[in-house]
Amino acid sequence: MTIDPAGEVARIEAERAKLPADERLRLEAGDAPLLRIQLLHMLERAKKAEAAIRRVRALHQPIHHMGKPWCTECSHRRSTGPKTYEWVAYIPHPCPTIDAIEETQ
Ligand SMILES: [Zn+2]
Repeated sequence: MTIDPAGEVARIEAERAKLPADERLRLEAGDAPLLRIQLLHMLERAKKAEAAIRRVRALHQPIHHMGKPWCTECSHRRSTGPKTYEWVAYIPHPCPTIDAIEETQ
């Protein structure tokens, strides 16, 4: 179910406009603690989401090879010795994961 926040606010405001002033003030005063709790909960969720995005960005860093940027996490290299490796798959950076978390216009 999709909620239209602006529509809901307009509906509640229209209903409250029909009430006597003292009843309207009583309802609005009762909303404040609930709204504060909702905002704190939303802030906590936003902080966790931002931290998760930072961790994903930290994993999907570019590495330059053959003159192009590749994603270190999505591209694959295999070990060919104790200190050597060869590339077996190249995924350009920004990779689909970074594209998915970027803001779209
Ligand atoms: Zn990647």
